[in-house]
Amino acid sequence: MPLTAYSTLYGKELDVEQLLSHLNGDKEVRDLTNLAGINDHIRSFIAVDIQCPGCFVTGAELVSGAASKKTGALIRQPYFRFTTPGHGKFCDFSNSETIKTPENLIDFGKANNSITRQVRVLVCSAIELGIISQVKIRDMREWFYKTKAGSSFEVNLDADFPIRLLAWTRAILKGSSIGTLPASVELSKDIAAAKGFDWKLEAHRQLYLLNADLSECIQGLKLWQLHDHAEKVSSIIKVHQKTEVFDPTVLKNEYQLTIELTRYLNHYLKFPHNHHFPELRHSPLVAFSAVLLYVNDWNITNALKDFAKISLHKDPDLTLGNVMGLNPFHEYQAWRLLKELQSLPEEIQNIEDVSQVLDQIETGLKTSFS
Ligand SMILES: [Zn+2]
Repeated sequence: MPLTAYSTLYGKELDVEQLLSHLNGDKEVRDLTNLAGINDHIRSFIAVDIQCPGCFVTGAELVSGAASKKTGALIRQPYFRFTTPGHGKFCDFSNSETIKTPENLIDFGKANNSITRQVRVLVCSAIELGIISQVKIRDMREWFYKTKAGSSFEVNLDADFPIRLLAWTRAILKGSSIGTLPASVELSKDIAAAKGFDWKLEAHRQLYLLNADLSECIQGLKLWQLHDHAEKVSSIIKVHQKTEVFDPTVLKNEYQLTIELTRYLNHYLKFPHNHHFPELRHSPLVAFSAVLLYVNDWNITNALKDFAKISLHKDPDLTLGNVMGLNPFHEYQAWRLLKELQSLPEEIQNIEDVSQVLDQIETGLKTSFS
């Protein structure tokens, strides 16, 4: 359930307190723990004005905050609830009765570390220069939601498969690594007679030679990326088994562009560097890159020109950044891999535990060649 939501009237993201204060002529709202007294006129207005930040439905209701009985301090902020007609199918808020913000939504107003502080300055500068706006940030979220809703597939993969396949991937890669016999050589008793012959490594090479199809899949689909994501893919499968989910691969081009821009900005801003995946560490920066590309119709050259202007701008009004951005590519690689794995042929999906297969190969080799 969202703490903040978009007001069509005010053209910006507001929490319950800010909204009520605006509607009340900017007077402070006295009791956030008891909103029952708010008149029907205001309630009906809120129901048509306020949109869910995830799926843009209207019909918002207010839920009072809660205060500590001992101290009277607010322990839960008031929030918005959307029950009629209710959230859309792919809304990030639809499964949750809690008021936790989904991980893909980025509060650009946050400044709790050096990265969020710098991104906030960039966002505020960009807003002050008219390059982005709260409305455009909201429009991007809607664009993403509609894209999501327009492409889906059902999850029906064995949740252990990503872990099994990762083990196969490692074993097959080892089978063509340094120290193995060349792929063209056929093993014979004379060769295996070498002192300290490595039967285990030879078993890996045989595995590689016997599984050319799988080896091709690993290269073509970049399945070695399972190294970073197999656990995540498994947990996504467990949560979403037999349900319809968004197909993220429709956003492949946008993802590539966002990552390219993020890598450039990451270097420019001297953020801590993650050799392979800077995008995994700096979600607020990914969200900023995505919105900069979105307002430039995904033209990266123009986005870079805009960034140059933003970088020269000084001392922006920091309250402008109180807006909810979106990292549309949160866990993108895990979702991409899930989609790819599910489209693999059934015989690959049914592979056994690779360590057992390696043991069988090794036993067979020793029987034949020693
Ligand atoms: Zn929603």
